[in-house]
Amino acid sequence: MRVAGIFRALAPAVLLFALTAPARPAPGEEQESTSAEVNALFAGAVKMLKENHPFQARQLLERAAELEPNSPTVRCNLGLAYQNSGNINRAISEFQRALELAPDMPQATLNLAGCYQSLGRSREAISWFEKYLQLSPQSAEAGQVRDIIAQLRAAAEQPGSDPGAPDYLQAVTAGGTYRWPQHKLPLKVYIAPGRGAQGFRASFRQALVEAFEAWAAASGDRLSCVLVTDPLSADVACDWTNDAQEVSKAGTQGERGIAWVVADEADEIKRATIKILTIPTFAGGVLSDDDMKKACLHEVGHVLGLQGHSTNNHDVMFFTIDAATVWPVLSRRDRATIARLYAAYPVLTRQAR
Ligand SMILES: [Zn+2]
Repeated sequence: MRVAGIFRALAPAVLLFALTAPARPAPGEEQESTSAEVNALFAGAVKMLKENHPFQARQLLERAAELEPNSPTVRCNLGLAYQNSGNINRAISEFQRALELAPDMPQATLNLAGCYQSLGRSREAISWFEKYLQLSPQSAEAGQVRDIIAQLRAAAEQPGSDPGAPDYLQAVTAGGTYRWPQHKLPLKVYIAPGRGAQGFRASFRQALVEAFEAWAAASGDRLSCVLVTDPLSADVACDWTNDAQEVSKAGTQGERGIAWVVADEADEIKRATIKILTIPTFAGGVLSDDDMKKACLHEVGHVLGLQGHSTNNHDVMFFTIDAATVWPVLSRRDRATIARLYAAYPVLTRQAR
């Protein structure tokens, strides 16, 4: 037996919590009130970003940017608001503007790298991630960033990494084609109760159940799963944690889950484990049901045999599950990939759950 892979969902997105420089020094009364207004708008926007309301944050920051057009901090958070609401091109131009005003700003550098990663423009992403490491080699995100660079490099070298191809099976089977053997089907899935994991909601369990169902349906019902109540008899054991350390080497909270797969010499999967983080990325933030669905779909994809990542930023198996361009449903390419992986298997009748 050997461990076939450990995978992480990577989500670089850095929010600035305070204006780095006070709004322009104010000689007159009027300018002082402008500065106070910028500060209030900025603080309101930070709250909205933490609570996952990027559209509202955008409105506040647009107003702040009108009053204070040359604040790199305002530009950087405005970029993040665009990034989190899915407008990556506009986010890039805001981060670039921030970097014109403050060329060595690590946060704008890291977020710009994340945008290029979201667009599947790996070469530019790698170069901005590397610049970030030069600027902030000791930061909490540095370990995660080195991981991302390594993954992007490995993915770019893999055949089948064209984000426009009909599926990405070739890319995720480059290191071996791992499958559950037919005799293991339906897969016995155990989902631990979330008691004890801070932040857990009943909807999380539902999201995980639906993730297994969605992939099984996408396989053309060649895969199927059944829930079991005994973890020892399970093929896939799923658990919850509110400890970011448990799903991440560096302990950063940008990662929402982790999947372990154990396979034999013939690349048949023997058993697998999933652990999902139950707390939001930012302290005081909100973990939405959609974010949880994306995390569940992504980690379940790994344990069903997709041993790598897609380079297309609309796929659930994209590197960065938090990208606003990823929707909480399987993409056409996700579905085509799992269907191809299990194409030789017979169609099963659906199990009662
Ligand atoms: Zn992953």
